[in-house]
Amino acid sequence: MKFKDEVFLVALGDVELNLLKRLSSELMEILPLIEFKVSAERFNIPVEAFNARRKQYNSDVIMMCYAKSVKRRTLLVTHVDLYASTLNFIFGQAESPGLLAIISLARLDTHFYGDSFNERLFMDRTVKEAVHEICHTYGLRHCPNPRCVMHFSNSILDTDFKSKLPCASCMRKLTAILE
Ligand SMILES: [Zn+2]
Ligand SMILES: [Zn+2]
Repeated sequence: MKFKDEVFLVALGDVELNLLKRLSSELMEILPLIEFKVSAERFNIPVEAFNARRKQYNSDVIMMCYAKSVKRRTLLVTHVDLYASTLNFIFGQAESPGLLAIISLARLDTHFYGDSFNERLFMDRTVKEAVHEICHTYGLRHCPNPRCVMHFSNSILDTDFKSKLPCASCMRKLTAILE
C-alpha cells in the first residue's frame, strides 16, 4: 500500500506520546491511504488562550497561534477543554480545507461525565474526533448520516452513536481528494 499523504500527530501540552502512538496505529487502520506519524516535538498551549472565567481554552486563539507556522498536515491533541467563539465547548476544530486541526481529550474521557475510566470507549471517541477533524482538513463537510464520522457531534452521545468510519459517500469524496 502506497500512502497518498501524511498527517503528523502533535501533543499540545501534557499529552502522552504513547497515546499518540496508539492513536496513529488505529487511524491507519481506518484511513489506510494516509500515513500517521507521531511528532517528537511537543507544542505549548499559548497562555493567552486561557479564559480564567470559563476555565477553558479558546480554540480560535490556539489555531491562530499555530496556523502560519505549520507547514505539514497536523493534528494537535490536547488534554485541555476547548471552546470557540459561539460554542460552549468543542471536541475539535479544523481549517477546512487546510493543514491544521485540533482535538480535545477533555470531554472524551469518561471521568468527565462522572463515570469510571473506560479506556476502549475513550480511545474510540478519540479516534472518531481525530478522523472527523482530519477529514475536515481535506475539505470534507458535515454529513447528514448520523452514523457517519463526519456527522456533527453536538454532544458525546452523538459521538458515541457515530462510527469511526466515513460513510460510503464521504469515503468516496476523501479518496477522490487523496488520489
Ligand atoms: Zn466538524
Ligand atoms: Zn458521510
